[in-house]
Amino acid sequence: MSRFGWFFVLIAVLLTATPFVAKKAVGGGNATLSVMLGNELCEMDIEEYVLRVLISEGQKCQSAETKKALAVAARSCGMYFALYGMKHGDFDVCSSAECCLPLGDPKAASAKQLSEASAAVRETKGIILTLNKLPAMALFTLCASEGTRYCEEFEYITPIKNEEKCEKHITVLEYGTLELSHALQCEKLSDCLFVYGENAKCAFAIAEHKQVQADFIVSALSLPSYEFEAELSNESAVFTVYGAGHGCGLDLCAADKLASNGYGYEKILLFYFPNLEINKIYNA
Ligand SMILES: [Zn+2]
Ligand SMILES: [Zn+2]
Repeated sequence: MSRFGWFFVLIAVLLTATPFVAKKAVGGGNATLSVMLGNELCEMDIEEYVLRVLISEGQKCQSAETKKALAVAARSCGMYFALYGMKHGDFDVCSSAECCLPLGDPKAASAKQLSEASAAVRETKGIILTLNKLPAMALFTLCASEGTRYCEEFEYITPIKNEEKCEKHITVLEYGTLELSHALQCEKLSDCLFVYGENAKCAFAIAEHKQVQADFIVSALSLPSYEFEAELSNESAVFTVYGAGHGCGLDLCAADKLASNGYGYEKILLFYFPNLEINKIYNA
């Protein structure tokens, strides 16, 4: 089926779908995405796309249930990219982690990696997260430590407090005064004040009466996450950073803990995305 063919079938299915399971199959075929894989443009079945995301990102979690949650999130993002054309004009997605989702190579994966990824994809086939019956952007992150943060771009991704703070993903980083002054556009470091939002995430800093956005600080200092404590002195600044990743959406590290407490992938997804619904858009 062509890209546009499934687009209309998808809309039709979603419009007639009851919340949760819509059991209609889409003409025996799945959705396809046009993918820029390295320098090569190819049409890819959405299930293969999800498998490739799992091969690349699945190692960030251990539990089979977390991997299934990740598969649903990746499928939702793929559908979202295809429907709304995020960043690319001539194709749906690229394989760059900085831009779209990173894609692994099934041929280069280990047998264990491939079988775990395949199981997660197969057992969630056709299942996505939806908002008003349409695919939602279901972001995922390696570890959000105390909890996830509000996503400005997708306001249905709201902060969720984790049951316990992660003790595993902690990074200590030291910066020279000059480097930090430059990043915060502030000469007197002692005047610098970090302002924290929900779940201990940095919201912004006030430096010499100017507000410096958290995104700017994180990218200028290459901090692994938005949750940190900073100890400033005249010579240096020591940052203790909790968690890793952008901190929005599905927290893979904490999801593993939920899974070990008996949460299935659907319960994990609805914990991190309480504003979304789980829908099955095809069975084939
Ligand atoms: Zn891209
Ligand atoms: Zn962690």
